Amino acid sequence: MGIPLASESRLASVRDRVPTVATLCSHSSLQIFHGARVEGFPTLGICVGPPPKFYDAFPLGRPDRFLSVPKVKDLPDAVDRLRAEGAILVPHGSFVEYVGAETFSSLDVPVFGNRAVLGWESDRRKEREWLDSAGVSMPKRFEDPSEVDGPVIVKYYGAKGGKGFFLAKNREALEDFTPTGPHVIQEYVLGTRYYIHFFYSPLVDRGYRVGHGSLELLGMDRRDEANIDELYKLGAQEELLKAGIRPTFVVTGNVPVVLRESLLPRAFDVGARIIERSIELFGGMVGPFCVEGIMTEELEFKVFEISTRIVAGTNLFISGSPYADLVAPGLSMGRRIAQEIRRGRAEGRLAEILS
Ligand code: ATP
Repeated sequence: MGIPLASESRLASVRDRVPTVATLCSHSSLQIFHGARVEGFPTLGICVGPPPKFYDAFPLGRPDRFLSVPKVKDLPDAVDRLRAEGAILVPHGSFVEYVGAETFSSLDVPVFGNRAVLGWESDRRKEREWLDSAGVSMPKRFEDPSEVDGPVIVKYYGAKGGKGFFLAKNREALEDFTPTGPHVIQEYVLGTRYYIHFFYSPLVDRGYRVGHGSLELLGMDRRDEANIDELYKLGAQEELLKAGIRPTFVVTGNVPVVLRESLLPRAFDVGARIIERSIELFGGMVGPFCVEGIMTEELEFKVFEISTRIVAGTNLFISGSPYADLVAPGLSMGRRIAQEIRRGRAEGRLAEILS
């Protein structure tokens, strides 16, 4: 038996009925609704104003019903309606970002996964404490510019999409930089980026065992980031700066990737460490998460960030991926979430996967 995350009163609205899978219409919602439908759940799309018209183009991803709110921030006012619908909220990046981590955490509606993770992920310092203490290799962090001994990336807190990040190839180049807000100076890791999509189930007792449950690898992507990914076409960064263009990392899309098979043990080791430490720190991270890191030429994987819920890169794999195909046919992350809810209900263990 795993760790109960949700109280009896929190689960009352979904206990004796088929729950409705609900999420905000954005990000990876079409995939989440599609997966829920395949697994036999009714679906509810939360939207701001009228339902998005482009959903009509995707009949298998469109939710059964919509719940419209005037503004995302008004969601707390809709809690009674969501409970009446028997909703289970599935968090995704935009959902938590738009509602706000604190407000999202306080919603009295069952949420898929452990909402306690939000407090650890939304604070870069706490996230680092979690990953460091898990023994995960991360880019070096410099407390003061005078310590810098190579290329660095300066990141602002809450920048979202790497807006305004500054790259300096050495300490001297950093002297030209005047920060405009709270930031960290991090080693700029040279290598290849991988965004690894994991799912942790506390219910499954076979496969790659971690804690009481099982760690699954369902996919991998790399993000297309404007305008940094196109820099090489125009020449060195200095040339761009002369033209007044600063590199940004705003995500514009995703491309599928696979790792060399011999590097998979390393990927699993990182995923397992993050889960094991999360169990010790806050009762465990449940469901989808993404480990975002850079593989260096020495084949060291340095993790610069984790996302503790479904990431948009999983949208590449609605009908499976080179990894998910080896777990079950036609398995998307959205469908995997619905399967976990189905199993939790069947085994009377919803408290271990909802919070
Ligand atoms: P988001 O919220 O969209 O994930 P963010 O503001 O949290 O973005 P990060 O994910 O930490 O920012 O970084 C954005 C991008 O910057 C990464 O996808 C990667 O391309 C690059 N990056 C971040 N850290 C490093 C690093 N230490 N070395 C090299 N590149 C990095």
